[in-house]
Amino acid sequence: MFGYVEWWFGAGRTGDKGLTVKKTTTRLADGRELIYYDSRDDTVRDAVDQRPLDPMASASETRRDPLLGEHIAVASHRQARTYHPPADQCPLCPSHDGRLSEIPDSDYDVAVFENRFPSLSGDTGRCEVVCFTSDHDSSFAALTPAQVRLVLDAWTDRTADLSQHPAVKQVYCFENRGKEIGVTLDHPHGQIYAYPFITPRTEQMLRAAEQHRESTGGNLFDDTVEAERADGRRIVLDGEHWTAFVPYAAHWPYEVHLYPKRRVPDLPALDEPALAEFPHLYLEILRRFDRLFGPDAPPTPYVAGWHQAPFGIDRRSEFALHLELFTIRRTADKLKFLAGSESGMDVFINDVPPEAAAQRLRDVAS
Ligand SMILES: [Zn+2]
Repeated sequence: MFGYVEWWFGAGRTGDKGLTVKKTTTRLADGRELIYYDSRDDTVRDAVDQRPLDPMASASETRRDPLLGEHIAVASHRQARTYHPPADQCPLCPSHDGRLSEIPDSDYDVAVFENRFPSLSGDTGRCEVVCFTSDHDSSFAALTPAQVRLVLDAWTDRTADLSQHPAVKQVYCFENRGKEIGVTLDHPHGQIYAYPFITPRTEQMLRAAEQHRESTGGNLFDDTVEAERADGRRIVLDGEHWTAFVPYAAHWPYEVHLYPKRRVPDLPALDEPALAEFPHLYLEILRRFDRLFGPDAPPTPYVAGWHQAPFGIDRRSEFALHLELFTIRRTADKLKFLAGSESGMDVFINDVPPEAAAQRLRDVAS
């Protein structure tokens, strides 16, 4: 047997038929890990990678900017990475008819593998690719709730797994969607970055949370969500277990933050009711994003990412897991560029008032 198989039952799962996730871990020809997540427990994933791959050349390093105290990843080998291949050469489609891709099997539900062109690798962390579906022409917003649940289970499992990696301080699961964002492969996929340091954004949030606790005694995340709910003008969706709103000081033309109502530090700490509701709310928000600019506009480009607590920090439970989603599109044919003030000084100029953005996101409800 080439690979090995694990059975895995997610949080709160009792092993009911149809609610299990089957996880199969194997290796690609150059030694990279490949993990299949399947919704059927009788699925067999034993196809072997037949490609004659050279060992992975990973020369990434991280450097710290002494003026800003921020880390930068330097990854020169990424210049050679696959760039907009034709659909019949997609490396994320299943292998078929002798055309060999990154996925040796002829089909899959969700597949995760180590990036061949990582920004972080070895003792500088790890980069993974998450294929949301084997259907090349689909998109995240077109998935079924059951498919989204399987992706959520894969993110959760990868976060738990990577937390055991000695070099990893923080796990970021995200999706870049659209060539406007710089996506180089059209196949529906996201990425997981496992950083060997705490990212600058998270450092800022942790500092703000600490100052808030010292001055008010409260939890910054709880108090922020509560203030948004009390105000109401920027609420987009209020579910039983999640709240979605445009933040008071949104940076981007359309930006939504999605918080579970019971604060947890990371995905593995979500309970079953929150896990079960997430696919429905998230799909609704993504579909509204695609309707923002009218029926003739091309799909809305966006970035969606999970903010999770770093590992091994004090007061870890005080961090609040949440998803941040934003688009760089501000009108049907205009993009928001990060120019002088944003790129040079980190001061964002937002042309769409957050209250108007939230109203628009409510107006395009299905
Ligand atoms: Zn594809």
